[in-house]
Amino acid sequence: MLISALNRWRVCARRFAVVVVVLMLLAGGAAANAAPSGEQLSTRVVTDPNHAWVLVNKSRPLNPAQFVPRDLVSWGGTGHLLRAQVSGAVSQLFAGARAAGHSLELVSAYRSYASQAALYSSYVQMYGQAYADQISARPGYSEHQTGLAADVGNVGGGCGLTACFGTTPGGRWVAANAHRYGFIVRYPAGYTHITGYTYEPWHLRFVGVQLASDMKIRGIPTMEQYFAARPSIKSGADVLAADSAGVLWNYPANRAGGFGARERIGAGWAGLKAGFVADWNADGVNDIIAQWKSGTLTVYRGKLSGGFLSPVTAGTAGWQAMNITVGKWHGGHRFPGVVGTAPDGAMYFYPNAAGGALGARQQIGNGFQGLRLAMADFDNDRRQDLLVTTAAGNLMLYRSDGAGRFAQEARLKVGNGWGAVAQSHASFGFQGTGTRGLTAKAVDGRLIYYSLGSGRFTGSRQVGNGWQSLSVFR
Ligand SMILES: [Zn+2]
Repeated sequence: MLISALNRWRVCARRFAVVVVVLMLLAGGAAANAAPSGEQLSTRVVTDPNHAWVLVNKSRPLNPAQFVPRDLVSWGGTGHLLRAQVSGAVSQLFAGARAAGHSLELVSAYRSYASQAALYSSYVQMYGQAYADQISARPGYSEHQTGLAADVGNVGGGCGLTACFGTTPGGRWVAANAHRYGFIVRYPAGYTHITGYTYEPWHLRFVGVQLASDMKIRGIPTMEQYFAARPSIKSGADVLAADSAGVLWNYPANRAGGFGARERIGAGWAGLKAGFVADWNADGVNDIIAQWKSGTLTVYRGKLSGGFLSPVTAGTAGWQAMNITVGKWHGGHRFPGVVGTAPDGAMYFYPNAAGGALGARQQIGNGFQGLRLAMADFDNDRRQDLLVTTAAGNLMLYRSDGAGRFAQEARLKVGNGWGAVAQSHASFGFQGTGTRGLTAKAVDGRLIYYSLGSGRFTGSRQVGNGWQSLSVFR
């Protein structure tokens, strides 16, 4: 079974490679002077919330999360809002349907972050979180927030917002013709494992006539497949590790509490002191921050289709002596930064102003000589906190004030026995959408996942062993 899955992946990977080349050709003319390479271009268009090709799904939120389109208009004098171009396209779609004898109506269009938050929490109240996640997007993760999505139905007909819409004459016409007006049926039947949603024949997504027609002609059913969104680090729950030969491996999380077969994603990592994973340039694809024994700190920017761009230098010298952790320590900053301690125990915050080199450091504490650090939002208040392991093995919580400094409060002890933990890092989605935790490597080589509630650990379990010789990225 493993072998056949791997072969299938290889076939898919080849097909994806072809798709990326075609995408680069398609997109090259429009923005030839705006982007230095096709790879960067493809990353940019699918992460730009203003672009009609923005790719939003359960693992790719809008950035910023509270994005509001600038050109929303009322559709046909109704309370439904859509981006201007999409509003016109819906009118043309409905006119085309009418000419073919089908009477369609708009059921839902733009939804703000706040209204999506209200909708999602009402589903959670009614059905519980697990089921709510199957039928509704979390705020910041909904296509409706882009102003590019339209839920349609038959006027006065049944099957509203249900799968049977696809079997009605109007629904069949939509599936066959929507591309001529720039729309795709975004969540087709049979692709829940890719889109994250069950079949929604009523949910149309505007991507423009060019892309919608190309997908139709070539039989590519989802945006995820079209854009070959298969970065080397697939999610915030994956574990990266360099082995003693310097080969870099990604262990992809299966989002059900385990890992798929590891994938080789690099070589030449033997000189590493420590590696970190973060979206350093905020383009929606995870990057690697490498702290080298030679003293430099470099960033390998992940490509949407896999692999990495050439490294850029984030810090030039002296990093071999620092004990660091990486994350969005300053809640108001767009890019993640570095918090680190010097050999004398002084702790510094290094901001990352532009997704590249680090700026001037600010001292935020002292007395941390030789202590292990990890950054995570422990109490789930959307501010990153520091978890510090003391010499006695206690895990102490240093909460942040969200503005780059520590909260003024007594430090809370949140764990003990952490002397047996060699290192740990924040993990997102390991046990399914929305789950949070820490992945830790124990000194005896076990890999352990600690699930997090809001401000406490809710459980732990072993998810691997024999990791002694691996340098696990944080
Ligand atoms: Zn919808």
